[in-house]
Amino acid sequence: MIFDLVKNELKKSIPDDEFSRYIGQLTYSEEESYPDCVCLNAPNPYVATWVQTKYSSKIAGAFQEINGTVPQVVIKIKYPQARTVISVDEVLQKEIKTAKSTLLNPSYTFESFVIGRSNDLAFSVAKAVCENPDILYNPVFIYGGVGLGKTHLLQAIGNAAVKNNKHVIYSTCDQFTNEFIFHINNHSMERFREKYRYCDFFLIDDVQFLSTRESTQEEFFNTFNDLHNDKKQIVLTADKNPKLIAGLEERLKSRFMWGMIADIQRPDLETKIAIIKKKCEIDQIKIGEEIVNYIATILEENVREIEGALIRIRAYANMLNQAVTIDFVKDTLKDYIKEKRENITMEEIITTVAKELNCRPSEIRSKVRTKQIVNARRMVIFLAHKLTQNSMRVIAEYFEMKDHSAVSHALRTISQIIANDADFKLQIDKLSSKITSAH
Ligand code: ADP
Ligand code: MG
Repeated sequence: MIFDLVKNELKKSIPDDEFSRYIGQLTYSEEESYPDCVCLNAPNPYVATWVQTKYSSKIAGAFQEINGTVPQVVIKIKYPQARTVISVDEVLQKEIKTAKSTLLNPSYTFESFVIGRSNDLAFSVAKAVCENPDILYNPVFIYGGVGLGKTHLLQAIGNAAVKNNKHVIYSTCDQFTNEFIFHINNHSMERFREKYRYCDFFLIDDVQFLSTRESTQEEFFNTFNDLHNDKKQIVLTADKNPKLIAGLEERLKSRFMWGMIADIQRPDLETKIAIIKKKCEIDQIKIGEEIVNYIATILEENVREIEGALIRIRAYANMLNQAVTIDFVKDTLKDYIKEKRENITMEEIITTVAKELNCRPSEIRSKVRTKQIVNARRMVIFLAHKLTQNSMRVIAEYFEMKDHSAVSHALRTISQIIANDADFKLQIDKLSSKITSAH
């Protein structure tokens, strides 16, 4: 039969266990197949979506090898116990969005993740469990603020595990809840359990959104226990420490804290610069050092926002066919820079800082190098960069510094101080709001 020949062909390029897990489960539906469109039945949505997304072109290629035409490949779900046939599209749309919950963004890998002080613990834990599932830490709990790379890291585990032929379930807590409710209402819990109990890695994103419904938490608790007992690797993320998640049952909290807890902090300036450079490299955006530094200092520590800014810069540059200059970038990012006021001047900043630090404005402008004045000058440079339209070159000229790289160096030092010295940060924030509120 033709499908046996096709399977033999596919066996050549698909590893054995993967083959038996997916291709081996398919049956050929002769009555629904035509030379240019073959229909295969899968026993459950999981296999169906997986095959559809990962193997349909390979399957089409194998048919071509055998009979010369490249057919369209349609995967339908035919549950073994029932006679209902649903198309994958319908399932994708309606049932459980399996595609989304099982498909990983291929660009979220360990390689594309920039490691810095803010995330190195989370990164190494993620990497370690990927290499030694269930041996080192189980579960792993990664938490941190919005846009700091939790989903990226979680999916990087998934992508690496899939590469090692592991069976991965990636799902957000929202999806878990929706699927659970759907299956409860449809009296099809066995399908839900079939999906969630069959995996090597159970990756659950945003558990702070786990429904407060008792039954959902109960099901999550049971899923967790079954998988943990079976020595399956569990990795969870949330926006805060499990202890602080409101509405989460104590028994779940305590389980989440069984293994390793790693947090992701806001990236420091160095890491932000490294992330911008990496994104530019991946997306082939060409911008100079000064612009990279500018974006890193001007934008908050939310990586998603930085990405948005880069996309904007590239889009505008392409559209207007314009070289990316610092002025162009400033112009493009105007909306992002909420605090920026065009009419804030250097003089104003110097006066405010001088007053706050009890020194004279002329001292800040001079070359005096006492600790107090060096400190004041740093604050002025930082605030000038943050609050005015002046480029680093202009700031450098103002203080008769060598060139913009001296300013960039100063900015880096200040960011480090800010990261390590809460009082200094408080003072900077206070000055910043004093200056902006005067406008
Ligand atoms: P979270 O889930 O914590 O809200 P995401 O993982 O969705 O954040 O990250 C937002 C965006 O920022 C993603 O596109 C991700 O690739 C990127 N990102 C975050 N941290 C890093 C990092 N350290 N290196 C590279 N990209 C990162
Ligand atoms: Mg996320």
